Amino acid sequence: MADRDYYEVLGVSRDASAEDIKKAYRRLAMKYHPDRNPGDDTAKEKFEEVGEAYSVLSDAQKRAAYDRFGKAGVDSGAAGGSGMGGMGGMNGADIFGSVFGDIFGDMFRNQQGGCSGPQAYSGEDLQYELTITLEDAAKGVKPEIRVPVWETCETCHGTGCRPGTHKVACPHCGGRGTVRMQQGFFSVEQTCPNCHGSGQVNQSPCPDCNGTGHQRKTKTLQVNIPAGIDEGQRIRLSGMGGPGVNGGPAGDLYVVVHIKDHELFRRDGSNLYIDQPISFVTAALGGEITVPTLDGESRITLPEGTQTGQVFRLRGKGIKSLRSGVTGDLFCRVYVETPVNLTSSQKKLLREFGKEIGENGAKHSPKNQNFLDKVKAFFAD
Ligand SMILES: [Zn+2]
Ligand SMILES: [Zn+2]
Repeated sequence: MADRDYYEVLGVSRDASAEDIKKAYRRLAMKYHPDRNPGDDTAKEKFEEVGEAYSVLSDAQKRAAYDRFGKAGVDSGAAGGSGMGGMGGMNGADIFGSVFGDIFGDMFRNQQGGCSGPQAYSGEDLQYELTITLEDAAKGVKPEIRVPVWETCETCHGTGCRPGTHKVACPHCGGRGTVRMQQGFFSVEQTCPNCHGSGQVNQSPCPDCNGTGHQRKTKTLQVNIPAGIDEGQRIRLSGMGGPGVNGGPAGDLYVVVHIKDHELFRRDGSNLYIDQPISFVTAALGGEITVPTLDGESRITLPEGTQTGQVFRLRGKGIKSLRSGVTGDLFCRVYVETPVNLTSSQKKLLREFGKEIGENGAKHSPKNQNFLDKVKAFFAD
């Protein structure tokens, strides 16, 4: 470790406040923390150097001694005595625990644990894309899906070792799962890089599960899709995801629901929309029409003179909201269809009809008359 000035190491002035020193230490320790710089020896060295500087400058007595006598004033590591002013019994974890607890949180606590055995990880979350019809989304459905599951390997019964073999104590850490890094007068305990904290290594992995102890199988599950589910919403099946590691909990399975486009209906939340053609005779005279709904049909009565684009609401014929439980409405927008393929006698009737209403067009086609008036005014200018 380079023999640099402690103030220089932390990048603070000699009259820096305790708070400034603490801040500088946090920043640098985060920057050089081994978890953030795996395999980087320079960063590891810096991390240790920063820790040493902080251990002295954060203690008012030791800082005063250092200011007066330099490292000779605080470095009694070689003598092994108690000249550390109580520092001797303090290990790295204590320092980090007090300064770092709030920064690194669980990650750091796991790291410094050491005695708690191999680190447990939860399994990965999986996602399954499921497409259903609008009808099924409206009334709910319980489809069966086939998903991967991980079962204990039958060959090794979950040990991950080739039958007849066992895991052996990790030679790097002697089975402890942690290694101590000596740094002058204190040492830091770190997770063993060889066995990742388990204390054991598997020298002949089971060939059927590659040493994982799990085998992938396919399982049929029934999913309960509630009525009212909407596009993109997810159903969580707790514990049906990937297997946990070292006794950690299994991940979750998320079923993401997609809804097929419907030929007739458009959906917006709990409301449905439909465009419906009507004959121009019905539009002019009014009358009853039949409107399809998700579960059958309904009838509505159109008034005389119904226009293209007019919207009629059928209350309670939408979709029941998953959140509020209230059923939405069906909005039916009508458009008038111009008749085609007319016979000559039908055309004759229409011509007579046209002549009949032509004299006072403004009365029968107010919008058209209004439009024509505007056009006239435009060209008159
Ligand atoms: Zn196996
Ligand atoms: Zn080890």
